[in-house]
Amino acid sequence: MSTRPLAIFGGTFDPIHIGHLTVAWEAAELLDAEVRLMPANVPPHRSPPLASAAERVAMLRAALAGQSRLVLDARELERDGPSYTVDTLHELRAEQGARPLVLLLGADAFAGLPTWNRWRELFDFAHVGVLSRPGAEVARPAVLAEEVAARRVDNVAALHAEPCGKLVELAVTPLEVSATRIRELLAAGRDPRYLLPAGLFDDPVLLAPYRR
Ligand code: ATP
Repeated sequence: MSTRPLAIFGGTFDPIHIGHLTVAWEAAELLDAEVRLMPANVPPHRSPPLASAAERVAMLRAALAGQSRLVLDARELERDGPSYTVDTLHELRAEQGARPLVLLLGADAFAGLPTWNRWRELFDFAHVGVLSRPGAEVARPAVLAEEVAARRVDNVAALHAEPCGKLVELAVTPLEVSATRIRELLAAGRDPRYLLPAGLFDDPVLLAPYRR
């Protein structure tokens, strides 16, 4: 019996941009999954975001308005300390029973997976869906290639049949957009209007953290 998977797309979303939205939307279609965007509180691997947690949530809400395929899940912001994905997936597994879970990662984030806390355990809780990302053609470490070799599947149907443990590469529309570039443009007084979801321009307060 096939069950509609629950996919998790984590990130800093500082700010959310059309790259995030496009790949999350396409992953929802390709996997026939519910997709939750999950902003991270204190990212263990990087410098703190420019916008506060509340500001990033406000931007996500504005960006996601008017559709129901992509939803916000702010649970990691309610937790103290670093948000470890493995803990979040553990919690979701307890809530969702045997429903397939899919952790969505851009190709750049996937290449860095071996630096994550208890990274091999991620596959005990979820499948992994790797989203193609232009400009992220970085070499994958050997330990990662070894770990995923036997997990790789070509057909997304395999992700519906099991709760966790597989890896699929999802060929999504390549968009070379990054939050770093958008922050740079806004800081320089530019107006990257069409790299951002329209909802972010509804309230001038939303992009203020980057224009300061
Ligand atoms: P920054 O430039 O601040 O590092 P970012 O644009 O990479 O930000 P994040 O919030 O760090 O955005 O990314 C969250 C997730 O979205 C990661 O898995 C990342 O690989 C993925 N992602 C972001 N932008 C794209 C894109 N244009 N195409 C595919 N995946 C993307």
